[in-house]
Amino acid sequence: MSEVVDPATGEVVGLVAATTPDEVDAAIARADAAFARWRGTAPGERARVLRRFAAVVDAHLEELARLEVRNSGHTIGNARWEAGNVRDVLDYYAGAPERLTGRQIPVPGGLDVTFHEPLGVVGVIVPWNFPMPIAAWGFAPALAAGNTVVLKPAELTPLTALRLAELAREAGLPDDVFTVLPGAGSVVGERFVTHPAVRKVCFTGSTEVGTRIMAGCAAQVKRLTLELGGKSANLVFADADLERAAATAPYAVFDNAGQDCCARSRILVQRPAYDRFLELLEPAVRALRVEDPARETAEMGPLISAAQRDRVAGYVDGATVAFTGSRPDGPGFWYAPTVLLADSPADRHWREEIFGPVVSVLPFDDEADAIRLANDTEYGLSGSIWTRDVGRAVRVARAVEAGNLSVNSHSSVRYWTPFGGMKRSGLGRELGPDALHAFTDVKNVFIATEE
Ligand code: NAP
Ligand code: MG
Repeated sequence: MSEVVDPATGEVVGLVAATTPDEVDAAIARADAAFARWRGTAPGERARVLRRFAAVVDAHLEELARLEVRNSGHTIGNARWEAGNVRDVLDYYAGAPERLTGRQIPVPGGLDVTFHEPLGVVGVIVPWNFPMPIAAWGFAPALAAGNTVVLKPAELTPLTALRLAELAREAGLPDDVFTVLPGAGSVVGERFVTHPAVRKVCFTGSTEVGTRIMAGCAAQVKRLTLELGGKSANLVFADADLERAAATAPYAVFDNAGQDCCARSRILVQRPAYDRFLELLEPAVRALRVEDPARETAEMGPLISAAQRDRVAGYVDGATVAFTGSRPDGPGFWYAPTVLLADSPADRHWREEIFGPVVSVLPFDDEADAIRLANDTEYGLSGSIWTRDVGRAVRVARAVEAGNLSVNSHSSVRYWTPFGGMKRSGLGRELGPDALHAFTDVKNVFIATEE
C-alpha cells in the first residue's frame, strides 16, 4: 500500500495498493490476449467506443478535476482544462481508426499497398506533473490504432488514472484493452521495458530515467517514445511588446508551480530592454495568486512533495534573487515564485531543469547572441520568441533547436499539433495528425498481377 497525499495540506487522502510483479505479468498477458480481438474490431466500432469514452469523461469532468486538485495540488482551473484535454484527445483520435489509410504505390508487375499495423501491447509510463493529459496522449492514439494498453501512473499521483480506467469500462471498452497498474517505477515501469509482450514503451519523465529506459528497450529493439526534461528559453527582443511579454512570462514558467517540462525557465532579455522588463515583471510576479488550489481564483498551487520542494530550494541557495512572489503559511509543500538573476550561463540554476517555480534571467546583445544562448543547453523542448519583427521571428524560430516554439505567445500544447523534444528532451512526437503512426508499424504487401 502506498499513501496518496494532498500536497496542499500534507494530509493522506488515500491508500493505493502497488501492483506486484506477478500481477503485472498477468495483466500484460491479458492485454496481449485481448489484442487480437481489439485490432480485429471494425474501425467504426473502435471509433464509437472511443467517442463513448470521451463522452463519459465529459460527464465526469468536474469529479476528475476535483480529484486532481486533491491528489496533485493543481489549481481547479488547470485541472478542469486537463480533464477536458483527456476528452478532446479521445474525441480527436476517435476520428482516426476510420482514416488510418495506407498507400498504393506504383510498381511494375503487380499491386503494392501499405498497411499501418498496430504493435500489440503498449506500455505507457506517466509522471506526476500532468497525470491526466500525459496518460491520454499515450492511451488515446494507441487504442485508436488497435493496440491494447497497460498504463503506470506515477506513485505520487495514481488517482485520476485509476478513475479513468473505471470510466473506460463504463463506456464499454472491452476487458483488458486498457489496464491501469499503479506501483513503483522500478517494478511496474521496468517490467514494461523487459517484458517481451510489451511492444512499445511510451515514457514521459526525467531524462535520467528515460535514458535508462532507452537502453533497456534496445535489448529487444522495442519501439519507444520519450518525452523528457526541458530548460526552455523565453527570448524577449527590445522591439517586443514588453508589457505583454512581462505580464505573460510568469504564467509561462510558474504555471503548475513550474512542474512543467515546457516551462520557460530561462528568460533572455535584449540588453536595452533588460531593466524595463524586470521593472514590469516584478509586479506581475508579486500579483500571482498562490493559494489553496481548490479556490477559483488560484493561479498557482503547491509543489508535489516535500522532497521536490527541498530540491527546488537547493537551486535558490546562494543564487542572486531579484524578487519573489508570495506563498501561504502553514502545512503543504509551498514554494514562492522566485526570479533569479543569472551571473553567467554557467550557473547551475541556468543549466539544470529545476521543475519548480524558479526562473533565471540573463541579458543578451543581439540576435546571434540570443540564438547561441538559447541553444547552449542539452535540452530542446519548447521556447518563446517575443518580437514585432516578422522576419526575425521566423529566423529565430528556425534557429532555436527545440520541438515546440511560439511567437508572441507561450502556447506549447495543442492536441491538433505535434509535440515533442529535440536533443535530450526526447524522441518521437505525440499528439497531432501523425501520432497514430508512432503506435503502428508500416507493412508493405506486393501482389503479383503477372500471369
Ligand atoms: P521519473 O523518475 O523520471 O518518473 C517518471 C515516471 O517513470 C514515473 O511513473 C516513475 O515511477 C517511472 N519510473 C521511475 N523509474 C523507472 C524505471 N527504472 N523504469 C521505468 N519507469 C520508471 O521522474 P520523477 O522522479 O518523478 O521526477 C524527477 C525529475 O524529473 C523532476 O524533478 C523533473 O526534473 C523531471 N520530470 C520531467 C517530466 C517531464 O514532463 N518531462 C515529468 C516529471 C519529472 P514512480 O512512480 O515510481 O516514480
Ligand atoms: Mg524518480
